[in-house]
Amino acid sequence: MIKNLKTDVLIIGAGPAGLTAALYVARAGKKALVLEGRTPSRLAIGYEIENYPGFLKIDSRELLEKFIEQAKHHGAEILKEDALALALEGQPKYVTTRSAFIEARAVIIATGRPISEEKIIPGEEEFTGRGVSYCATCDGPLYRGREVLAYGLSEEALDEVLELEQVGCRVKLVTGKKIKPEFKEGLEKLRQKGMVVLEGYELKAIQGEKRVEKVVVEKDGQMEEILVSAVFIFREIPGSTLFTKAGLQLDERQCVVVDRLQRTNVEGVFAAGDVTCGSLQVASAVGEGCVAGMQALAYLRK
Ligand SMILES: Cc1cc2nc3c(=O)[nH]c(=O)nc-3n(C[C@H](O)[C@H](O)[C@H](O)COP(=O)(O)OP(=O)(O)OC[C@H]3O[C@@H](n4cnc5c(N)ncnc54)[C@H](O)[C@@H]3O)c2cc1C
Repeated sequence: MIKNLKTDVLIIGAGPAGLTAALYVARAGKKALVLEGRTPSRLAIGYEIENYPGFLKIDSRELLEKFIEQAKHHGAEILKEDALALALEGQPKYVTTRSAFIEARAVIIATGRPISEEKIIPGEEEFTGRGVSYCATCDGPLYRGREVLAYGLSEEALDEVLELEQVGCRVKLVTGKKIKPEFKEGLEKLRQKGMVVLEGYELKAIQGEKRVEKVVVEKDGQMEEILVSAVFIFREIPGSTLFTKAGLQLDERQCVVVDRLQRTNVEGVFAAGDVTCGSLQVASAVGEGCVAGMQALAYLRK
């Protein structure tokens, strides 16, 4: 069931940039809704930081907790879902997630470092919306009774695979090469439900004429073709697909182009942190998040 949400400022990304922007917006008494995607902030990796002012040394996870606590303390809300589609031109702006249709007066993009070119699967961008999907709830029912391929392994991915099966898709799951032990039980559950689990396989290509028709998978150097009607990719959408479709200007590294006030080329849309490929540091992400939050507030006052 898709719910309708309304906010003053929607912040896409819950890292230092997004949470700082949220803190400024919420503390000024405006509604700040933050989306946290399935790949967590780089701070969640867990490393020691020695160059964030105010701390001689701090574990990055502890710092992230502090950012979250402070943003929430001032009233920011966090929704743990990816932005899947953006309609940013005009007023208001609309963003879709797995379970929500969000209306916002201003949007701040703080999604972190763009997904690297190598991680984008050949055919992924070409067939997005024509058989490639990132959301079981949104697109699963379109493929009822048909063969679909799911790609990815995380708690959320396993849940989405079950959702595909529930709406009547015939699902094959490609897990990728690295399988963390905590997912073994979940994979077994899928097998017991009659699903095909291609454990340790990689998705190499998505192919077709006008729509997705087949995929190429690989294990131990052996390539295999599988006929499918759709491919559900359970990781974040490459910015090149998500942002360019929304009319945002990107540079040759797929970074969002901003001016000194963190304004993008679309009015009422700002970007901050690693997504702009500035200094790729926590301190600069926080600084840019602050400017983006303040500029979003100024935009609301207009
Ligand atoms: C190993 C390592 C060591 C590092 N060491 C240091 C250091 O010592 N000092 C330092 O200053 N910096 C360091 N960095 C860099 C620092 O972690 C980053 O610069 C910083 O985290 C960037 O913040 P950000 O808010 O821009 O993005 P991130 O922290 O990456 O957060 C991005 C957020 O966007 C969300 N997101 C992405 N796509 C979507 C979507 N479609 N919808 C919704 N949400 C989405 C993610 O879930 C996440 O919450 C290090 C990085 C790494 C990997």
